[in-house]
Amino acid sequence: MAEQEGVIKYQLDHEEAPLPDAMDIEPLVLWREKLVECGLVGQDPERYDGYGFGNLSMRLDEGFLITGSQTGEVKDFQIEHFAWVRQADPEENRVLSLGQTPPSSESLTHAAVYAALPEVRFVFHAHSPDIWRRASELHVPETAPVPYGTPEMAREVARLLALAETRAQRLFTMAGHEDGVLSFGATAIEAGEALLGALWRAQT
Ligand SMILES: [Zn+2]
Repeated sequence: MAEQEGVIKYQLDHEEAPLPDAMDIEPLVLWREKLVECGLVGQDPERYDGYGFGNLSMRLDEGFLITGSQTGEVKDFQIEHFAWVRQADPEENRVLSLGQTPPSSESLTHAAVYAALPEVRFVFHAHSPDIWRRASELHVPETAPVPYGTPEMAREVARLLALAETRAQRLFTMAGHEDGVLSFGATAIEAGEALLGALWRAQT
């Protein structure tokens, strides 16, 4: 495996505190369960040196809610496994967050999607060898082979999202991040369908 999964590479200013009870985590909990079932998110001793993989987020009025760092093995996902990214600056490589768990190492990549597309409310990052290996054959847009969770990746995301094709597919792969795929949508269903539809195409 090229690079270790789940390593936080940005400057993190994280306040360890409970998230407000009023936060609606349901859509992310339901879709995470679905993606874990499909082997797109989770933790598996046979994959990526046993490190957790994949993460999901939802835009809020201020920032976004994202699954926490290294929570891949969690079965019963609760509010304490999420982090609230209040500010994220890909160029400054900085993240300001709050929660009982630090935010995903790929928070800057999610932030880049939210910054580029105001209508997007959900971002799902998954790992799929099927989609990743057949990306060019399936005409799925691909980033250049840059490392995950970095300002370079954020710039690559902005470049891809400027293309109508990427916005139409609501999906792209990350060439420098083994099996890395990212989908997005105005609703959780849109983001989920883009990912599961590509998985279906890749497996049939
Ligand atoms: Zn990843």
